[in-house]
Amino acid sequence: MWWPAPAVTGRKTPVADHQVLLSLRDLYKVFDTQEALSGVSLDVYEGEFLTLLGPSGCGKTTTLRIIAGLEMPSRGVVLLNGEDITGLPPEKRQVNTVFQNYALFPHMNVEKNIAYGLKMRGASRQEMKEAVGKMLALVQLEGYGKRQPGQLSGGQRQRVAIARSLVLSPRILLLDEPLGALDLQLRRQMQQELKRMQRSLGITFIYITHDQEEALGMSDRIALMRDGRFVQVGSPEALYERPETAFAASFIGETNLLRGRAAAVKDDGVLMDVGGITLPADSSLWISPGDPLCLSIRAERLYMSAAPVKEPCRLSGTLAESRYAGGERICVVHLPDGQAVKSRRPTEGEPPCVVGDKVYLWWHQASAVIVRDDLEVAP
Ligand code: ATP
Repeated sequence: MWWPAPAVTGRKTPVADHQVLLSLRDLYKVFDTQEALSGVSLDVYEGEFLTLLGPSGCGKTTTLRIIAGLEMPSRGVVLLNGEDITGLPPEKRQVNTVFQNYALFPHMNVEKNIAYGLKMRGASRQEMKEAVGKMLALVQLEGYGKRQPGQLSGGQRQRVAIARSLVLSPRILLLDEPLGALDLQLRRQMQQELKRMQRSLGITFIYITHDQEEALGMSDRIALMRDGRFVQVGSPEALYERPETAFAASFIGETNLLRGRAAAVKDDGVLMDVGGITLPADSSLWISPGDPLCLSIRAERLYMSAAPVKEPCRLSGTLAESRYAGGERICVVHLPDGQAVKSRRPTEGEPPCVVGDKVYLWWHQASAVIVRDDLEVAP
């Protein structure tokens, strides 16, 4: 599935025939003196799986709560299908939320928990029975309808919580770290199930997670947040392969950031000066000679050799650490200018390097990305 890049990235991508379902327009939120959101704008598309990712305290939950109607923005508007819903109470929006802590009614069995919202809406017994049956099948809990929440595992309780939200046929399901309380194996299984449900229902999911692998594996788009703003919004591939800033490159995946300056800007790329060594690099950024920049090279794309190499993108250094980690070896190399870089190499056929050796590093020009150095201003 292809999703148009939103305006926030600055890229001019044609908005395909995907329908905008939700628009956040210039949202600000101030709690006492603390500014939690500082101008958040984003279009969310019909049927999309969008993940909000970012460090603790960057404003993910606040954004979700404003969409749900649980919090009023200090400024800005929320549009659903073009209609201003900023002041509507939660129950009047076609938006439901699943939290990490399930929030099931402990004294009601699974069926009653799932049917609760429909009952409040005045649905008939028959309607509730049919809807609950469908939901139990969807979350693969047929036969569990009469159980009490206390008789379920954490994963099963979370599935009931999801069924309870989906039974109301929301236009958007908001999920705030829904798998955060589950162990890793169950979490991986539930990720697949959630994705399957989202695809089969075609409902828009807005998802919060701290787990990068979860974000990369499940999302159509990821909105990366920092200090109450979106810093980059795009497909998982775009964020991993073409981060725009050092923050984005280092927050998603493991990367080496070589600090340097643009020595020359050419038609087909940039020559970067890293500690007196000139390295060719591709760039889609608007760069002027002398600009301070970082060259981002993923650890798994930085190759190491015991013998000198002739590649145009190469550096040499001293092997400072070499750690065996099963299928791969994690090597730390100190460069002459004092920077340290990490290389993850398959252990099969590895070069015979030991700590203290001079080693040669190289990479394909296309796998390194020039990014703006925005880490100095980190809080
Ligand atoms: P986490 O990943 O830790 O859950 P988050 O990205 O979801 O964090 P928010 O919960 O949205 O972050 O919080 C953003 C900022 O607003 C934080 O600095 C937080 O302390 C502050 N904040 C959130 N809710 C309130 C509140 N009710 N009163 C005061 N400050 C708040």
